[in-house]
Amino acid sequence: MSSPREPARSLSEAATALIHHPYEAPGGFQSVQPGVFKASTVIFENTAALRSREWKDKTGYTYGLHGTPTTFVLEERLATLEGGRQTLLVPSGLAAIALVGQSLLKAGEHLLLPDNVYGPSRDFARHELAQWGITTGFYDPMDPASLAAALTPATRLVWLEAAGSVTLEFPDLAGLLGVIRQHPQVVAALDNTWGAGLAFNPFEVGGGVDLTIHALTKYPSGGGDVLMGAVVTRDEALHLRLKLTHMRLGLGVGLNDVELVLRGLPSMALRYAAHDASTRQIAAWLQARPEVAQVLHPALPGSPGHAHWQASCSGAAGLVSVVFDGARLTSAQVDAFVDALRLFKIGYSWGGPLSLVMPYGLQGMRRFGPLAGQPGTLVRLAVGLEDTGALVADLAQAFDALG
Ligand SMILES: *Cc1c(COP(=O)(O)O)cnc(C)c1O
Repeated sequence: MSSPREPARSLSEAATALIHHPYEAPGGFQSVQPGVFKASTVIFENTAALRSREWKDKTGYTYGLHGTPTTFVLEERLATLEGGRQTLLVPSGLAAIALVGQSLLKAGEHLLLPDNVYGPSRDFARHELAQWGITTGFYDPMDPASLAAALTPATRLVWLEAAGSVTLEFPDLAGLLGVIRQHPQVVAALDNTWGAGLAFNPFEVGGGVDLTIHALTKYPSGGGDVLMGAVVTRDEALHLRLKLTHMRLGLGVGLNDVELVLRGLPSMALRYAAHDASTRQIAAWLQARPEVAQVLHPALPGSPGHAHWQASCSGAAGLVSVVFDGARLTSAQVDAFVDALRLFKIGYSWGGPLSLVMPYGLQGMRRFGPLAGQPGTLVRLAVGLEDTGALVADLAQAFDALG
């Protein structure tokens, strides 16, 4: 990997940096995209090459699982986007979460997750980490004092998510990192799938995080048809700890998928800005609907964490959640609203061209904050790249169907 360049400072800088990249094709060949090099076996010219080649620092190629020129390009581009130095590619965003937990924690140690963490991340801790003797606690992401109180002498990893999964609260990242940085034994990890390396710079905000994970499945791929994840670091020693676990677990990615993510990156900043602009219009429109108790979107004044979002972000992704008043509408009525939508399809994930919708029961979803203990239903919209007016019209006709 070449040495890292200066990270992009703004969305427009990132848009250009994702298109203009100093990749050099072998032998003077010039094309728009890098070549795709596939391998399980890599050939050594002689035994001396076999003995001397080192896979860990990327000075040589040894085996497909340890990378090819194509994975090295994607890794370098992802690290550069965030101002990181190293990237590990894994088969999904969830695999990135699992790799971090498995690599950095051992029996007797403690993990802290935010209350609004990505659900499968919570399940991984509860069911996999727990059976290896690793305990998990939860903190209120909107309150750094709650994190300070939840830290124990055994805590080794604090997970951050911005914005929070489904409820989209934007945490006080600088405040949370201020608490974490008083504990040098603790690694700060951010799930930066929402920000995608575009909305804010996680290695610079507050004291800076130690690592980020990404579901490349979302905006980097942009097609709704690829599963991949990444772990980005700035510190060589931390990277090496993760890389050794990554190697021992045999976490390879398919080169056809790497090619698709490389193809998605040059248009990612433009797609992100388009998702963002459309979502803000839809969020403002939803706020005026009488059926809606609350619209959750960090760029919306009054939404939880709006001031924190404003302090550190230049973008807001394509997600908006709607809280329906449990006293006015039953969950069956909200299901009918979801079923009446035509352009918003029912499905998990987001980041592709197609708008998606997913209902969630609020009961038991949060243990901190105003949504804790609240009955009712939340509907998350993932706004795609369709015409905003058509999406608003679709929502309007589904509200009408509620009667
Ligand atoms: C989708 C998602 C993941 C997991 O990504 P997969 O590739 O689907 O495993 C992790 N974190 C967040 C915040 C996500 O939205």
